[in-house]
Formats: sequence, C-alpha cells, structure tokens
Amino acid sequence: MVELNTTVAFYNHEFTTLDKVQISPLDRGYYFGDGVYEVTKVHNGRCFAASYHLDRLYRSMRLMEIPATIAPDELTELHDTLVQESGIREGSVYLQVTRGTAPRTHAYPDRMTPNILMYVTEANAAKEELAQTGAKVITLEDIRWQHCDIKSLNLIPNILGAQKAKKKRAAEAFFFRGDELIEGTSSNVFMVRDGILWTRAADDLMLKGITRQLILTRVAPTCGVTCIERKIDRDLLLKADEVFYTSTTAGIVPVTQIDKETVANGEIGHVTRSLQEAYAHLMEDGLP
Ligand SMILES: *Cc1c(COP(=O)(O)O)cnc(C)c1O
Repeated sequence: MVELNTTVAFYNHEFTTLDKVQISPLDRGYYFGDGVYEVTKVHNGRCFAASYHLDRLYRSMRLMEIPATIAPDELTELHDTLVQESGIREGSVYLQVTRGTAPRTHAYPDRMTPNILMYVTEANAAKEELAQTGAKVITLEDIRWQHCDIKSLNLIPNILGAQKAKKKRAAEAFFFRGDELIEGTSSNVFMVRDGILWTRAADDLMLKGITRQLILTRVAPTCGVTCIERKIDRDLLLKADEVFYTSTTAGIVPVTQIDKETVANGEIGHVTRSLQEAYAHLMEDGLP
C-alpha cells in the first residue's frame, strides 16, 4: 500500500488531510479520467502566477462542459490558505476537478456536481536539479488526440512517453507529429538559433504552458531576446544552438542530448542561462 502523507488537503467543501480524503469508486475521474487539473508553483511560501493557472482551469472546464461550481476568488483563497496551513515554502499546489460521481455509463447524467481536490506538495529536488545540470531527452511519435490544449486527467500517452524516457535514462520525451515537434509529455519546448528564440505556435495540438507564456511575454523581453512562434521540424531542432523545455515544476530545463545527438557542443547555452536568471527574478518578485 502506498502511504499517503498527512499534508493538509481540501476536498469538496472541507479541509482535511490527504490521507483522510475519501473518494468514491464511482467518481468519473477514477473510471474515465473525466476531469481537468492544474499545478501551480509555490515559491517562498507564495503561489506563483495562480491567476494564469485558474484562467486555464476554467477554460479546460468549459471545453469539457464541466460546470463551474466554485468562483475563481474562492479558489485563489483556497490556494493561499492551503499553502499557509501546509507550511511548505517550495513546492506546488495540485488542483483537480472531476466531472463528479455517478453510476458508470459513458454518457453522463444531467446536472452532475464536480468533485474538487486540492493539496500542496514539496518540490522534487531531483527534478529541480535538472535546470542546473541539463537533461537528456528522447523523441516519440505523438499518439494523442486533437484536444491537447485541455489540461485533462487523461494522460495515458503522456505517461507511456514519460516511462519510455525513464527507461532510457532520459528526463523527458518530445512528441512529434510526423516531422513536426509538438511538445514534451509534460512540458513545452524552445530552441535558440543565431540568438533568436523559437517555439511552436500554440494551438489545440499542445498544452499552452504558463511557463511558456511567461517566457514569451515577460522573460525573453527582459533579456532582450527576440522570440518567434513557428513550426519546428526535426532537422531544425537537431541543428539548434540551444534547446530547453519548460514547465511549472521543472522550470527552464536545458537539453544537452536528443536521442543519440548532442545539442551543439553539449554545454548549457548562454541564452538559456540568462532566461533562467530572469525567470528566477520574476519568481522572486511574484506574480498574482
Ligand atoms: C502542464 C503541461 C505543460 C506545462 O505547462 P505549465 O503551465 O508551464 O506547467 C506542458 N505540456 C503538457 C502536456 C502539460 O500537461
């Protein structure tokens, strides 16, 4: 049996601890992965960019036709309360909304009440270290559906991809649709060529990461780095001067090897370093 820790948690209307949360086997999240989620960074005991994550959560819910039974203000307050109560200074808030509980049928009944789960976890030191050391990644064919812009609980291809990476001692797998780079299993991808930052334009085939968005709108401009959003094919990626991937929990992770190919000279590039520094400053300053 997996031991659950006693970290403070919120389930539906109550504060409790994670080990005491009781979830029905008839929850559609359990049967079908019928739900959505968010992971928000906690830094210096404060939530970072929570409003961005909540905007995306409500969008995911709208696209899944899960009714909003809780207001954004209330969720913001719950984030802050949980972080405070947990005593965790560095970590993340996990927030999950499933469609609700009902007897198992594919189509769902009218007027279901969503189940809301939230808790705070400590940062994973090994994962955070990759930002300093750089990481090896593998590439895989993207076998996902046409709505990867929804942060849905249905993560089977992502899980299988991450596991394949782990087996090859790689930190992440990059998904390709044919020749086109899409994103990582739980991250977005950037490359640098001739001092210019490139990333794929966001559409419904990829998740529009908050970290990605902040790099485009705040971090790169601070560093005076020009960024273009356009298609990246395999050839272009393998010729890059620098490559990195981004996510809330991993931050900005330099990529030093893709499958068997070394990226440039295998060193972490200076554009990546300066973006990491500016991003760290942004996190220190905080963002609602
Ligand atoms: C969450 C996620 C990301 C990264 O998004 P952030 O908001 O930066 O954490 C990228 N790709 C996928 C598939 C994800 O689930």
